[in-house]
This record gives sequence, C-alpha cells and structure tokens, in this order.
Amino acid sequence: MKIDKIILHVIKMKLKKPFSTHLGTVNEREGIIVEVIDDNGLRGYGEGVAFSTPWYTEETVGTSLHILKEVLIPLLLKSSITHPKEVFPLFSTVRRNNMAKAALECAVWDLYAKQLGQPLWKVLGGTREVIEAGAVAGAPAIEETIAQVHGFVRDGYKRIKVKISPETDYELLRAVREEFPQLKLMADANSAYTLKDTAHLKRLDEFRLEMIEQPLGIDDIYEHSLLQKELKTNVCLDESITSLHDAKSAISLGSCRFINIKLGRVGGYVPAVSMHDLCGQQGVRVWCGGMIEFGISRAHNIALSTLKGFDFPSDISSSSRYWKEDIIEPEVVVENGKISVPEAPGIGVELNRRRLKQVSLYTEEYS
Ligand SMILES: [Mg+2]
Repeated sequence: MKIDKIILHVIKMKLKKPFSTHLGTVNEREGIIVEVIDDNGLRGYGEGVAFSTPWYTEETVGTSLHILKEVLIPLLLKSSITHPKEVFPLFSTVRRNNMAKAALECAVWDLYAKQLGQPLWKVLGGTREVIEAGAVAGAPAIEETIAQVHGFVRDGYKRIKVKISPETDYELLRAVREEFPQLKLMADANSAYTLKDTAHLKRLDEFRLEMIEQPLGIDDIYEHSLLQKELKTNVCLDESITSLHDAKSAISLGSCRFINIKLGRVGGYVPAVSMHDLCGQQGVRVWCGGMIEFGISRAHNIALSTLKGFDFPSDISSSSRYWKEDIIEPEVVVENGKISVPEAPGIGVELNRRRLKQVSLYTEEYS
C-alpha cells in the first residue's frame, strides 16, 4: 500500500442542541478529519474523536494533533505496510493515544477496501446488512429528557440511553420508566459513583435497565467486579477498557456483562475486532459506542457494527441528531430505528467538500 500523502482537517461545528453529562456540556464539537491518499489518488477517511477537553479520556484535539503530526504520520509515511492490519502494530512503540492512532488506522482500512473495490464491512467479515440504531439523551432536566426520549421513540430508535449522576438518577429513571414502561432503556454514569454508592445503585435495579454503563472510576476494573456481584442490572464498561488486555482483565474478574467498543478509545479496528472476538468466546456482549461524532466516524461505526457480535443496538444515530448538516454525503439516515449498511466501496460515504470547507479551522498536508 503506497501512501503518498496524508491530509488533516481540523473542524469545528455547533451542535443543534447542547449535550450534557455530569462532567460538563458540549455546545460545539471540534474534530480531526484524516485523508490518507495512495499513489493512484484513492482516498481513505478517518476521524479523530477526542474532545476539546480531557473529560472523557486524557486525549484532546490538541494532544491528538501533536501525536499525529509529530509521531504517527511520520511513522506511517516511512513504513512499507502491505495490509491495514500492520498499522496498529506499527504504532506499538507509542503508548496509548488511541484516538490519534484510530484516526489513521481507520483511514488506512477505508483506503484498503477502496483499493479492493469492496465495502469495508465486507472486508472486515461483517454479516449484518441493516443495523439497529440507539440514541442518547443528554438533556440537563427531567422534562427535557422525557421530551427528547419521546422524539427518539417517534423516530423508531430501538434503544435509549440516558446520562445519570447520583443527584438525578433515581428521579430521572423513574420518570422515564413511568412514561415508557416497555422501552429498552439503559443508563450511562461516566464514572459518577464509587463503591460507597453500592446500596444506592441497587435501588436502580427496579427500573429494569438493559445495563448501567461505567458506574465507577475510569481505571477501576477490580471494583466493578465487586459491584457487578451486588447488582441485578448488567454492568457495561466503557472508559475502563482501552485495550484487549483490559478486556481480558474485566472478563476474568467478572467486572461486566457488556463492553461498549469504541474504535477511538481502543486504537482502531485491529484491537476492536480482537475485543469483539474475545467477548464472543467468553459470553460478554458488545455494542458500539458513540462520541458525538461527525459522519466519517459514524460511517466507521456502522462498518464495525456489522460484525456478528454486535447484536445489541449501538450508539449510532442519524447525522441530523447533532448536526444541521454533516460533512459527509450521503448523510447517515435512521429509518424506523434502522440504518442500511452502504454498498459503495470503503466506508461508503464521501466528504461533502463544501460543508467541510465551511467548518474547517485549518488544513495541513504531509508527504
Ligand atoms: Mg459511555
């Protein structure tokens, strides 16, 4: 695979509505769009999904840019890889910085699938031609959350997630459950609790949640194993699982019954697919998490979600959930809670250059 040129676009777009968690509110989203171009002019696309500040993991747009420009892009440009599987090992001398790694690794997979003239999901061995979409409510007040959930249910979303914290959880979940008794409902805590809250968290069992995501500390796999034993509700790990090794630890300890796999958090397709395979063998279920992302990352999430193990609706919503206009064409559309997997080569979407230009802060090329 001869890579001639790599282009980074740093973009910024306002969300249609602010998105809140107990850690803060996202009003505007910055992102990094990566183009990897081969000697025939074919382009593979990736997206750096780090946020502007390190509230989710330690990476930010700024740290990702630094690692991409100074470390990963020079490594990739001087390498002579023959397959995208070689990119993740190529980056093994770099600790963590998984979102920066994934931005490039995913772009190389897209390019490779385009060189073969096949959809990426088929190259990955995916089997699902339609995937089920899930939406995340991120409103600060209970009434607003209920209104958001009504909108999602009207749009046919198959599973709804709400963000919770110790101050709001019980009242919020009770209100949503009363309004929607049959809804596939789950909660994401983004590490808002400690083991001292075990009795409090047990009270949430009554709401028949599909799972509670990342209740305890981001680096705490052991204490989640103690908590999972106490709860009827399934624990799902997100922030805690940044590598295949973390997944092995969590599975061995019984820390969770679900793992949310995010390409950015784990460093790309190679670790994500290995994690999917391991979970399948060990009876831990998986789904694909979202990052309030732009269309390139969304298209990669769709490709990943075609793998057999992703049998629970993922955090993949339509482009219009967050954006007035996305940077891809065609945009991702959810119909009756489902997304049709594209048949075009690679991730099956193109950059909308007009929109990209409107939202670009700057663009840099490397060769
Ligand atoms: Mg989460």
